[in-house]
Amino acid sequence: MITPSVRSYVDRLPDCALPAYVHDLAGLRAHVTGIRAALPADVELWYAAKANPAEPILRVLADTVDGVEVASGGELAHVRAALPTTPIAFGGPAKTDAELDAAVAVHRIHVESPHELRRLGVAAARHRTPVHVLLRMNPALPVGTSALAMDGGQFGIDPADLPCCLDIIRRDPWLRLAGIHTHLASGLTATDQAALAHRIVDWVRTLPVPVAEVNLGGGMGVDYRNPAARFDWPAFGAALRGIGAPDLRLRIEPGRSVTAYCGWYVAVVADVKRSGGRTFALLHGGTHHLRTPVAKGHDQPFDVLPVDRWDWPWPRPSAIDEAVTIAGQLCTPKDVLAREVPVAQLRAGDRVGFGLAGAYAWNISHQDFLMHPRPTFHYA
Ligand SMILES: *Cc1c(COP(=O)(O)O)cnc(C)c1O
Repeated sequence: MITPSVRSYVDRLPDCALPAYVHDLAGLRAHVTGIRAALPADVELWYAAKANPAEPILRVLADTVDGVEVASGGELAHVRAALPTTPIAFGGPAKTDAELDAAVAVHRIHVESPHELRRLGVAAARHRTPVHVLLRMNPALPVGTSALAMDGGQFGIDPADLPCCLDIIRRDPWLRLAGIHTHLASGLTATDQAALAHRIVDWVRTLPVPVAEVNLGGGMGVDYRNPAARFDWPAFGAALRGIGAPDLRLRIEPGRSVTAYCGWYVAVVADVKRSGGRTFALLHGGTHHLRTPVAKGHDQPFDVLPVDRWDWPWPRPSAIDEAVTIAGQLCTPKDVLAREVPVAQLRAGDRVGFGLAGAYAWNISHQDFLMHPRPTFHYA
């Protein structure tokens, strides 16, 4: 599963450079170009920066996407500095006044409540700048069986509050309604995502105001149990064809499905031991660098990268043709990256390369717990 170019890059890394995150920028470029090509030309593709905001990643994506969605003032400052001319949309729950102030200058602002809308109006008036608002709505639409629904009500505006929001906009000369934003679920298959897109557009057409834009959100699924599988972008793109015509501009803002495939986390096996009837491989590394499997409750897919050198004068601790649990170096039983996964051979001193580590990986990890050194970062 590890690509030949990443494999040869990792083979040239000395042990002292590990743990390491290695990213395949050429692979990322090809992947996002494929996504763009699968979508109808009039559907905008934005990238949700929170999936992986690393600057080299942003720079590759900037050539292909129509804009970047940020979810905090920190992301806004970071993306603006990295990509000075790329359009930005600012979303996210519980925005501060300072964030609303900073957001006045962006392309679109996704608003989460009537109170936030009023505060944005005050910020826009202070800057004497009209702001273009998408109301983030959470209509009660079925999201399909593949999905993890966004917890009902925490994000966005209940449809019952829509008239109040429209009224606030009508009375405030600095607020302009650009459209509706939705992000209702994650982990969707293309079939479920397409059906949901149709439901959202149908719902938007029932609203009592003209709507020019609909942001359908992200949430395109990444299958961690089957790393070779991909969200069916051609099928999804075909299903979107024409559904906004002639008056609705459609936009999507995926994160995970864009960058997950371009990153690997590589660590050295410190030890292999049998204990309590199970076999454990302990890494110099762990979930403080790659929290994804704990956050999502899956086994992170991995490749064993054999290292033949063995300098100790005693037999090498090894697992041969057996199921192995791969744990890290934290003092907590939660520090497990994969459970009871069959391996042909895994020895102390070998390396393990975890795939699908390009999204919600390093940047969601509790990296200071136990004060281990940070990984090194590579963009090949
Ligand atoms: C996180 C998020 C996204 C991206 O979701 P993915 O599952 O990474 O595609 C898009 N829009 C909003 C509002 C989000 O919160």
